[in-house]
Amino acid sequence: MSRVDGILFDIDGVLTQDGQALPGAVQTIAALRDRSFPFRLITNTTRKSRRDTARSLGLAGLAIEESEILTPVLAARRLLQQRNWRGHYLVDRRATADLPPEAENDPDAVLVGDLGDGFTVERLNIAFRHLKRGAALIALQKNRYWLAGGVPTLDAGPFVAALEFAAGIEAEILGKPGDAFFRTAEQELFEGRGGRAALIGDRWETDVEGARSAGFDGILVKTGMYEPGDEGKGRPDAVLASIDELLPWLDSPRP
Ligand SMILES: [Mg+2]
Repeated sequence: MSRVDGILFDIDGVLTQDGQALPGAVQTIAALRDRSFPFRLITNTTRKSRRDTARSLGLAGLAIEESEILTPVLAARRLLQQRNWRGHYLVDRRATADLPPEAENDPDAVLVGDLGDGFTVERLNIAFRHLKRGAALIALQKNRYWLAGGVPTLDAGPFVAALEFAAGIEAEILGKPGDAFFRTAEQELFEGRGGRAALIGDRWETDVEGARSAGFDGILVKTGMYEPGDEGKGRPDAVLASIDELLPWLDSPRP
């Protein structure tokens, strides 16, 4: 019997770093496939379509199907469709491939993802004016920063916070650590049958603490965004030096 019944993998900093597979990633995924062990990839990346994410994982040597990847952009598409809303997008053009066509005027919602250098004062002001007119604010994620080639770089979160502050509203957050995102992931992981899931990630807040509050095991890896001392935050169920230690953990007895 395995420690858990299914694994959710964060991608950046866990399976890959700057487009390269991290040591042990390829073997771990291959071993889980061999065992027919349920897993999905769950990412807060909003700068790529799901197809592009699958393609870059493939280039790194990780054979992953598009349907095995969960992104906040897909959650946003589902939400817009459910509510019959039309959105204004502060979202990287590469990711809008996964979204319905953008509203030409009077959007019901402003969607914010990581736009990188595309976050100009002009674009933020256009979005702000939609919010002032009553559009809802939807954050694909609210990460503080990420590592671009090892360099700390502003993510979507600071811009979401700026719009929240200016408009005096609170964003609905779709990615990790949002509960709805984790519930969808659990559904897909176990195809509705239920089971005990673990999420393995490099961020103690969005991955470990988020997973634990969703009722999953939270596993922290000391790669990617990990900083010394993070193992003391978010109460991880396990701390692993890297993805390479996942299989031994999985095969250890349940406490
Ligand atoms: Mg990560």
